[in-house]
Amino acid sequence: IFISFEGVDGVGKTTQVERLRGYAESLGREVMVTREPGGTPLGSAIRRLLLHGVGGQGDAPGAADIAPRAEALLFAADRAQHVAEVIRPSLEHGSVVITDRYLDSSLAYQAGGRELTAAEVRNLSLWATGGLLPRRTYLLDMDPALSHARLKCDEDRMESAGDAFQRRTRAAFLDLAGREPDRFRVIDASQGIEAVWGAIKADFDQLLGE
Ligand code: C5P
Ligand code: MG
Repeated sequence: IFISFEGVDGVGKTTQVERLRGYAESLGREVMVTREPGGTPLGSAIRRLLLHGVGGQGDAPGAADIAPRAEALLFAADRAQHVAEVIRPSLEHGSVVITDRYLDSSLAYQAGGRELTAAEVRNLSLWATGGLLPRRTYLLDMDPALSHARLKCDEDRMESAGDAFQRRTRAAFLDLAGREPDRFRVIDASQGIEAVWGAIKADFDQLLGE
């Protein structure tokens, strides 16, 4: 069973991914937790380029360094490798696969945020993955002005792209969820960690029961 977590930066995806991992393992399931970008060795190299630009850390290259189409292709390359090397083999093995971001992030960020069309980015992504979609996608939703304030680490190239960009990205995620209500569950991430986890657990239990 293939699960993805989505949402703007700082909404608590990683925390909830770890909750779900612990819970699924407690049920005796094998679990593969992974993330994008950077779920494979090739992906880690791509992640460094995407987050810190071609000059590497310290050069503060800025978003203008990577053209929007090149950026979309780098994310797609990361995802293609991720599916081939990690996700498909783990699913074939029977594991619960939980990924911190997947193709909806590309639709929200590269299309919603950076003004490529959603259809272009979606087709690119589906080509890269051979059409593999999650069974369930948990969209952790909150005002990016609030989630951003929770981020402890230094801003990367994307996170420093500005408030309007983050707001467009949030709206794009909500729009995607509205188009595929069977796959998505939208969860109010401004609630406490336990309330968010409660909503995910209830849904996951139901998924396993199907
Ligand atoms: O979630 P994580 O911090 O690992 O994501 C790395 C950065 O890449 C984030 O700042 C996120 O906004 C950005 N990102 C993106 N397009 C994607 C996936 C992530 O711009 N498809
Ligand atoms: Mg981040």
